[in-house]
Amino acid sequence: MAWRDAMCGELRAGDAGRRVSVAGWADTRRDFGGLVFVDLRDHTGKTQLVINPERAPAAAGVAHEIRNEFVLQATGEVVAREPETVNPNLPTGQIELQVDELRILSRSTALPFQLDEEGVDETLRLRYRWLDMRTERMQRNLRLNHTAISAIRRVMDERGFVDVWTPSMTRGTPEGARDFLLPVRLQPGRFYALAQSPQLFKQLCMVGGIDRYYQIATCWRDEDLRADRQFEFRQLDYEMAFVEREDVLDVMEACVVGAFEAAGVEAPTRPFPRLSFGDAMLRYGSDKPDLRFGMEIQDATEVTRDSEFGVFKNAPCVRYVVVPRTYSRSEQARLEELAKEWGAKGLANLTQISKFLSERELQAFGVEEGSTALFVADEEPVVARVLGLLRLHLARELDLIRADLDVFHWVLDFPLFEHSEEFGGWTFMHHAFTAPVPGSEATLESDPAGALGQHYDLIWNGWELGSGSIRIHDAEVQQAVFRVMGMTDEEQRDKFGYLLDALQMGAPPHGGFAMGIDRFVALLAREPDIRQVTAFPKIASGSDPLTGAPTPFPDSALQELGIRLLPSQPD
Ligand code: ASP
Repeated sequence: MAWRDAMCGELRAGDAGRRVSVAGWADTRRDFGGLVFVDLRDHTGKTQLVINPERAPAAAGVAHEIRNEFVLQATGEVVAREPETVNPNLPTGQIELQVDELRILSRSTALPFQLDEEGVDETLRLRYRWLDMRTERMQRNLRLNHTAISAIRRVMDERGFVDVWTPSMTRGTPEGARDFLLPVRLQPGRFYALAQSPQLFKQLCMVGGIDRYYQIATCWRDEDLRADRQFEFRQLDYEMAFVEREDVLDVMEACVVGAFEAAGVEAPTRPFPRLSFGDAMLRYGSDKPDLRFGMEIQDATEVTRDSEFGVFKNAPCVRYVVVPRTYSRSEQARLEELAKEWGAKGLANLTQISKFLSERELQAFGVEEGSTALFVADEEPVVARVLGLLRLHLARELDLIRADLDVFHWVLDFPLFEHSEEFGGWTFMHHAFTAPVPGSEATLESDPAGALGQHYDLIWNGWELGSGSIRIHDAEVQQAVFRVMGMTDEEQRDKFGYLLDALQMGAPPHGGFAMGIDRFVALLAREPDIRQVTAFPKIASGSDPLTGAPTPFPDSALQELGIRLLPSQPD
């Protein structure tokens, strides 16, 4: 006998008269002493079971034992409901199942939370994720995740991409995060790193003639967990040989549109708009601006060069945003406090400083009645960052962000290097394998600040979905980049000898991209964080509430790996 021959959510008025078996979870039970009603649920929906002691005395005996989330199998006849008992809110609301046989397949202990309960603590939801997964929300999200990935795979397949599996256990692959280390029993004292991405392997696939590589790759990065970050996540990772930037972007856009269409959501129009990194920083104070609203940052550096107002005149950069409302003194003070937390020295309100400004300045700012211009004067990066954060903060506060919009765009022309205070030298902006724009190879070492990279980011409503670039395929250029980053020849050989060797044995021009699948699906599902689209995520403390990992291991296990813990570590 089959467990079931109909799904709980599929029965309709037209099925009346059919004899079916259904199986699923008891969603609710209403026991009237005689008649018992049970809503039976599976991932397709619910069907109302009616257990009538006169029709099925044995089933009625079983029905009194049922509690929420018991697993049941019921066999009976689909009957049309009386007009007054039709439930218009349920797709199966026209019918019910008059049960003849009822079996409890599995019981449930008392539940830590009810599935329809609002505001359940997230850690509790994750501790009992199997229950949480039965909710409509999680069912929808996990299935959407699958829909998006299948659509992406179809696009990649149609375009001739080959799915090549690359190792998770490798040497450190520098993507700007810390590595997770993996001790090796056969070689105590040595460690693999879990791949931060398949970056170098996919480049080696190009040298190996694969031509079009892709993978839904798991990546591991030891970073603080946030709404859009987990220790491990999946990305659509691809690489192409003999291509230009436009070919790479085209594939990514096709995947986005394919996934939207498969999910039944109106797809963004192609080609996606583009913004240079310089413009993004100037106009939005961020390299991943949210373009669902305006409130662009204005530059006032030029016009304030001869200002009477010393704060402006002496600052290397002066910019402002115009907010469509006025602020009281105390509100202004609160905003200034925020700006200071973000690193500004202050936040000037035009109304409060206008007496120090010339007619020319006031005219240039052109602020209308009822609006407020808020200024930051400082080094350029500070001004951009603070106004970028302020722009977002105010837009949220004033409800200017349209939740129904999906704005995708590219950010292009990033600098190749950035100066790192931490290392006191140059480091890569994206990763060390991004090619400089053609023609600038020769001046990389003499002018690292001026070098632009052939790098591109994809942004959706202010979330960075992914990054990619045209890669360096010439060993000498690669070595020049390593040198700018302060690596000696020995260090280069030690860490990246295999890459340099490969680049010297017939490396084709190539480029690629990687997009965070979980970020993409979270946004597609309109969820606020990626945990809601991940089956078994970890929480901010870095632990897994379900299994209790990470856990200590006995000394004997550590000893085999050549590891002894410092006294401050848990034992
Ligand atoms: N490996 C890069 C990353 O994971 C993506 C790429 O450059 O293709 O961000």
